[in-house]
Amino acid sequence: MPYSHESTFHDTSGHVRFPVGAKQHRAKYIYPVFLPFLGCPGQCVYCAQDKQTGTCASPDIYAVLSEAQQRLKNLSACGPGETRELAFYGGTFTALPAGERSACLEMLSPLREEGRVTHARCSTRPDALGPDVLKQLLDADVSLVELGIQSFDDGALSLSRRGYSGDTAAAGCRAVLEAGLELGIQLLPGMPGSTPDIFLNDVRRALEFQPSCLRFYPCLVPEGTVLARWYREGAYRPWTLEETVHTLGQALNMAWQANVPVIRLSVAPEPAFDAALLAGPRHPALGALIQAEALLVAAEEALRRLGRRPQELLLPAACQGFMYGDRGALKERWRALGLGPERIRFEPKAVAATLY
Ligand code: SF4
Repeated sequence: MPYSHESTFHDTSGHVRFPVGAKQHRAKYIYPVFLPFLGCPGQCVYCAQDKQTGTCASPDIYAVLSEAQQRLKNLSACGPGETRELAFYGGTFTALPAGERSACLEMLSPLREEGRVTHARCSTRPDALGPDVLKQLLDADVSLVELGIQSFDDGALSLSRRGYSGDTAAAGCRAVLEAGLELGIQLLPGMPGSTPDIFLNDVRRALEFQPSCLRFYPCLVPEGTVLARWYREGAYRPWTLEETVHTLGQALNMAWQANVPVIRLSVAPEPAFDAALLAGPRHPALGALIQAEALLVAAEEALRRLGRRPQELLLPAACQGFMYGDRGALKERWRALGLGPERIRFEPKAVAATLY
């Protein structure tokens, strides 16, 4: 189904109601098991997963599992309505040697059976999915597979040496859904060969799959990668912070209007990773800046729908912390929309915005 977020706005008797991203995570607690580079066919040009996760590259998987088991051994069964998720992050889970993948799933099995975790997910590449491996995940009660799609654009995939085409990326998304698993899609705005238009098209294509979640990882330049060399040679230029905020703000709004949670807007802070960064759109509050931009874009669209001067904007209280951007930089843009602070009200229980 072609993606269109126009249909998600509701105009009723003189007001416009629109989603602003209330839905974020499906489990309250996430217990990550990091498997950096394990199962990967090589090191992608931009990837520094070891630094990103603060662990060593290609660790011994049995040592990682043993450490995770220690960490989780005192976990009690979940109470009513409680949700916990075990997440195998990093690497290419479905391309792990069969014995190693089975060891991971065997660790999950008692946790699921005893109700100590309620969900499980893994991450992998779209070109590493066979029917057998997807069935194995389903049988083992893994419920969600996150695909490191990065882009559906053949040019960007090729320049970034991902080793698969846009068609393969799309086929991977379909395979996960057809296997009866939930789908997560990770995109890499600013990757070599990508432009804001290409990325926004990637978001449109991702939303057509109605995934359970998206992640946006603005491309950064960590030391020790091929991208660092390209950057030094002048062959790669990262997106600026402004370009990133502007483009991801539009993308986040598209996801909000499609009711698809975006569970990451930047690489998580990690001292070793930040120390190794050469360049790229890094900012301690990048996620909040993008949310602020997305909220403005959503309000502008709602105003066009309303078709008159607004009387009041009611927002979920969660928007209060980010809506004016860095040190109130966006206040004037809100005023220019006719929505000064006196016309904005926050409602703790609201899950969507309403423009009157
Ligand atoms: S981007 Fe994904 S496939 Fe590439 S090296 Fe990193 S974890 Fe492996």
